Amino acid sequence: MVSCAANRVLHVARVGNATQKLWGARSIWSLSSLSETHQMLRKTVRDFAEAELKPNAGKYDKEGVFPMEQIKKMGDLGLMSIDTPEEYGGTGLDSLAYSIAMEEIARGCASAAVMMSVNSSLFLGPIMKFGNKELKDKFVRPFTTGEQVGCFALSEPGNGSDAGAASTTATSKGDTFVLNGTKAWITNGYESRAGIVFATTDKSKKHKGISAFIFPKPVDGLSLGKKEDKLGIRASSTCQLIFEDCVIHKENMLGEPGMGFKIAMMSLDGGRIGIASQALGIAQASLDCAVDYATKRNAFGSPIIKLQAIQTKIADMALRVESARLLTWRAAMMKDNKKPFTKEAAMAKLAASEAATFCAHTAIQVLGGMGFVTDMPAERHYRDARITEIYEGTSEIQRLVIAGNLVKEYGY
Ligand SMILES: Cc1cc2nc3c(=O)[nH]c(=O)nc-3n(C[C@H](O)[C@H](O)[C@H](O)COP(=O)(O)OP(=O)(O)OC[C@H]3O[C@@H](n4cnc5c(N)ncnc54)[C@H](O)[C@@H]3O)c2cc1C
Repeated sequence: MVSCAANRVLHVARVGNATQKLWGARSIWSLSSLSETHQMLRKTVRDFAEAELKPNAGKYDKEGVFPMEQIKKMGDLGLMSIDTPEEYGGTGLDSLAYSIAMEEIARGCASAAVMMSVNSSLFLGPIMKFGNKELKDKFVRPFTTGEQVGCFALSEPGNGSDAGAASTTATSKGDTFVLNGTKAWITNGYESRAGIVFATTDKSKKHKGISAFIFPKPVDGLSLGKKEDKLGIRASSTCQLIFEDCVIHKENMLGEPGMGFKIAMMSLDGGRIGIASQALGIAQASLDCAVDYATKRNAFGSPIIKLQAIQTKIADMALRVESARLLTWRAAMMKDNKKPFTKEAAMAKLAASEAATFCAHTAIQVLGGMGFVTDMPAERHYRDARITEIYEGTSEIQRLVIAGNLVKEYGY
């Protein structure tokens, strides 16, 4: 049960927001050095995830559905719009708060985390940054409460990493654009009530001819493909969006014509902090599960936690989790301090997603046979971890982003 006290804690967190500018300069090196606001937020979200998500995540995974009632409860706690300004119905906290909350939600249920991440980073984020007042009034407030979620449609069947090669078109017709094309792998595809879609308005300009549009859902000319049958995050929906002569009003263009690729890349920078945090939550859940099991399981006359071979595994897991967390918080704090953070977000996502895969893999080894069956959450963590190395830019793409920025820093 989410208590009134929990709601109050987030209220206190909002009130305490004014103090946040101060800690921007502090070194955040451990949980206890977080501001009071962030510590309270962490506790509130952990309590919620322990009570509402962790006990049900296996069921949601098996059924392949994450209930919208739970998204509503997350909305009531302010979790679906943590870093959206209060003026537009958001919680008005910062990116570090977003990262902390995301990790705790993912520790309970990775599917819930991706729904939250896409709504916050990839739907509300770009509208807040590039939308005019009318678009914000129409498309932000209803999506802050958990009653509705948004989606982000960039990838296509023919191009994922090479996002600038989008083949979906938007043709100008009077005061509308007519969209044609197919978007692939769209998270929240089934539940969403609006989305941002990227389409070419001027093919001759290649990626500089891509524009971004907000579309309501349902809308004539948009149909959904089948729900993808996935390895992990099975409770979140992923599907194709098929646009066939779908008419979108010109007022729904986000930013200027040709700004779409830039909007997509800037949104993904922020999104990567979200996915890094999701990965951290999965990694932490794997570590928690391994330690708990190792203290209870006996072999050769004592708990297996006493065995150095097991201790080494646990130490390696903790090392990866904590180093990835520092990178993730650094990226979040750089965003909060309005510093460029593209490289740092890519580093965070790369480190955290690899930590998640490593920890989930190692946890199964610590659990032995019990790691391989659905009675324990370890096998779900293993399946859920894998996607964090793929979406919002694969690990190969993160390395390209990091190297590209480094080369610039070296002055070449
Ligand atoms: C569950 C799920 C949810 C998703 N949600 C969304 C969503 O909500 N919205 C959305 O727009 N997209 C979404 N995606 C799409 C996701 O972002 C892409 O799958 C991802 O960017 C990779 O693109 P791709 O699958 O086309 O792989 P490809 O681009 O075909 O890549 C295949 C392989 O080639 C490598 N590769 C490609 N280019 C290079 C290069 N230049 N250098 C080195 N290696 C390279 C890749 O790293 C990868 O290993 C989702 C995907 C999944 C599976």
